[in-house]
Amino acid sequence: MATITKPASAPEIKQTQCFIGGEWVPAASGKTFETINPATEEVITTVAEGDAKDVDLAVKAAREAFDSGPWRKMDARDRGRLMHKLADLIEDDIDELARLETLDNGKPIREARHGDLPLVVDCLRYYAGWADKIHGQTIPVRGNYFCYTKREPVGVVGQIIPWNFPMLMAAWKWGPALAAGCTIVMKPAEQTPLTCLRMARLAQKAGIPDGVINVVPGYGPTAGASIVKHPGVDKVAFTGEYKTAQIIMKDASQTLKRLTFELGGKSPNIIFADSDLDAAAAGTHMGLYLNQGQCCCAGSRVFVEEKVHDKLIDKLAAMNKSRKVGDPFDPNTEQGAQVDKAQFDKIMSYVEAGKKAGAKCVTGGKRVGDKGYFIEPTLFDDVQDDMSIATDEIFGPVLSVLKFKDVDEVIQRGNNTFFGLAAAVWTSDVTKAHRLADELRAGTVWVNCYDVFDTAAPFGGFKMSGIGRELGEKGLEAYTENKTVTMSLG
Ligand code: ADP
Repeated sequence: MATITKPASAPEIKQTQCFIGGEWVPAASGKTFETINPATEEVITTVAEGDAKDVDLAVKAAREAFDSGPWRKMDARDRGRLMHKLADLIEDDIDELARLETLDNGKPIREARHGDLPLVVDCLRYYAGWADKIHGQTIPVRGNYFCYTKREPVGVVGQIIPWNFPMLMAAWKWGPALAAGCTIVMKPAEQTPLTCLRMARLAQKAGIPDGVINVVPGYGPTAGASIVKHPGVDKVAFTGEYKTAQIIMKDASQTLKRLTFELGGKSPNIIFADSDLDAAAAGTHMGLYLNQGQCCCAGSRVFVEEKVHDKLIDKLAAMNKSRKVGDPFDPNTEQGAQVDKAQFDKIMSYVEAGKKAGAKCVTGGKRVGDKGYFIEPTLFDDVQDDMSIATDEIFGPVLSVLKFKDVDEVIQRGNNTFFGLAAAVWTSDVTKAHRLADELRAGTVWVNCYDVFDTAAPFGGFKMSGIGRELGEKGLEAYTENKTVTMSLG
């Protein structure tokens, strides 16, 4: 592993406080928490630890900006223009923002710079284009009435995001909310608050009115839960673990908030003998190890048709052995550090469980180095459906390979999970591809590709992988209420 170097030009840490009503303020309690560089285990800085009091102030600011501010009432095209301006400012700062993301999250700089950040800009621009295209219908009702529908912003939205793609998750949530004319109280993940705070500064610079975007860093059970319970919040959008979503659903029941959830997965990635095996192996490798395996849609259950099993294992093992793990700031690094010690320990405990259950550890299984949360790309073969490495979301660089013989069997086994976020099929038989795309119970099915995202294409989960969709026009719907107006024509 390369020794950890400081980034060529260290990103400046400018924003570490709560952003409420356009002001940077310390937490009311005066408390702060540390954010750690997962590649070195060193403290980067301390950040305001918001809780109920700060959330209350942020909701008041968002409420005022929604109820009496200019945002909701301004010409929709002007709202779009401000969003474009924010996208431009992010693009101007793209190198610095990528470095900040890598510092706080541990992901390779080349992914932050050429993956996450361009998608952030694209998402904001895409939704900026929607701002003036949100409209209702005229409805031909019985009788002498004129009936039309309007789509109005849902109001103040609470947005709680995870640490795996910190800026991108913020953009996925801000984009549709801003386009619809909502105002926002966001809580970034406690592991990675820095880029979201920087984005808030850029939003202010872009001219987005004070109070429209508020950011309260802090912990889930305090700051997060306060957003969910606050009667001034109309909707909560959450991305994270399904177990947290269960708590949020309970907490939100008192005020009957609108909820959208984007949760975890244990996505089946199905490889048939008639596929282009090199492409399938490369897509499988990327589909699991991307972002250190910390993707909700990671293809973590790889079903391979028996006939090509040995060949596939050889290809996957070879790619793992040459994968460059180490200093996230080295432009050649392909795999950086897991986000924190808790995740590192959880992943390692699954590796141990896999070995104990009798799966064959073909590559990896160990820590890399003795500083920073680096884990070898790990490949398990001979995995059985009921082993924990085949049933649980690990959220790390651990891939499980399972064998299958025929189509019906693999559809049944692929669907045999309470998750339903994504699935993939590799085959040259178009009939088989369509059949699987039809039968797999997942919000996204990739055919002969993996992790192909586009802001225009909706994303979300079946079953316990989520409620509602993000991205595309579908993602916008979650931020609007429908109003029906019926007028007597005399
Ligand atoms: P992960 O294990 O990936 O960190 P979590 O679901 O725990 O996933 O966290 C995702 C986000 O949800 C984080 O911002 C976290 O602080 C927040 N969170 C955790 N617990 C709660 C809760 N009880 N209420 C609201 N938000 C929470």
